[in-house]
Amino acid sequence: MRPPSVDGLARTLSDTGLPHPLLVDVAREAIAAGDVDSARSRAEHVTRALLRPVVNATGVLLHTNLGRAPLAHSQPATYTNLELDLDAGRRGSRDAHAAGLLARAAGAEAALVVNNGAAAVLLVLAALARGRAVVVSRGELVEIGGGFRVPEVMAESGARLVEVGTTNRTRLDDYRSAVARDDPALVLKVHQSNYRIVGFTEAVDVAALAALGVPLVVDLGSGLLDSATPWLAAGPPAWLASEPAVRQTLAGGAGLVTFSGDKLLGGPQAGVVAGRADLVRACARHPLARALRPGGLVLAAMQETALAYLRRDGDAIPFWRMATAPVETLRARAIALGVGETVDTAAVAGAGSLPGLEIPSAGVAIEGDHTAALRAGDPPVIARVAEGRTVCDLRTVDPTDDTVLAKALLSCTT
Ligand SMILES: *Cc1c(COP(=O)(O)O)cnc(C)c1O
Repeated sequence: MRPPSVDGLARTLSDTGLPHPLLVDVAREAIAAGDVDSARSRAEHVTRALLRPVVNATGVLLHTNLGRAPLAHSQPATYTNLELDLDAGRRGSRDAHAAGLLARAAGAEAALVVNNGAAAVLLVLAALARGRAVVVSRGELVEIGGGFRVPEVMAESGARLVEVGTTNRTRLDDYRSAVARDDPALVLKVHQSNYRIVGFTEAVDVAALAALGVPLVVDLGSGLLDSATPWLAAGPPAWLASEPAVRQTLAGGAGLVTFSGDKLLGGPQAGVVAGRADLVRACARHPLARALRPGGLVLAAMQETALAYLRRDGDAIPFWRMATAPVETLRARAIALGVGETVDTAAVAGAGSLPGLEIPSAGVAIEGDHTAALRAGDPPVIARVAEGRTVCDLRTVDPTDDTVLAKALLSCTT
């Protein structure tokens, strides 16, 4: 039998919906491997590698592998006033929309939105401290997941790292000596997002650092906007504990704070620089700002998030809606699924935020490890295994996905 033509084989796969050139690649690979029958599974593999919605049943609210904060945002195919001042009819600034609203919501004089939290730190250091010293406590020379290491970012920015104190204890006098000796451009405080040092420890608070007479930058990472959580009718949930917040850090005297858009802020992947207008302006004018700027899609999503905060409407922010759903509601949903055993679970914030803190939650468990089968479903369901059982936590599942989840679990048990 003659081998099928590449083009002919590709045409038999057209029902997969993949563009013809991709199907031709798949067909060529299958023929080259001497396994024509594998063409369909190869095409399915390509489809499964596409970016697509998944059901997050892990109980990790900000799951790094699942895009951190969930967000609904759609934009019609249209032009926007991204860089047009509609009143003046002149060139405007893309920093005039979301950034200003975020600043307003956080009690900052000004703000700037960049591509992610790492970019925010890099830009601040490059714009305000290139060629000069930056003082950091040895207890805060952290690595955040994904290769973000404070000493390396510092080196990339062209600033010189001046370490003070020890791993467990850094005192105000340590900073004072460094300020007197090294004439630093900045003092940098980095939030210990993803770890805790416990026991014989000492750190200096924001107000004391701010009084040193050098601009203080606080990399908050997680981006809790206000520790009073005015967007939540019931006030701050217990699990937020003593998480530092943007508004209070600025009120304490920080010149700038930096944080991620898609952690506790619950917005799109972005980084925010907020604080003193002169410092934000210096960052916005630096050439790196152009390389790190987000596009209109991200800025529009960020604007929606900021407006929700200003309306004090936590329910409009999916992260906060999910994080604060009453556990009784989750338990009732678990029972209504009608499959598996209803179990109490512990959800977590994730993305290195609030390490060690658990949010009481509920879900269902079925016997055995079915995570691979659930992942293979459409849509894929991401669950976890505990003590030989597959556990689905409902805190991270949108209620509109409950039917899909029930069906997926049922197909595992029958
Ligand atoms: C998460 C985090 C970052 C990096 O932010 P990305 O948005 O992931 O780039 C930087 N600093 C701290 C303290 C963080 O927690």
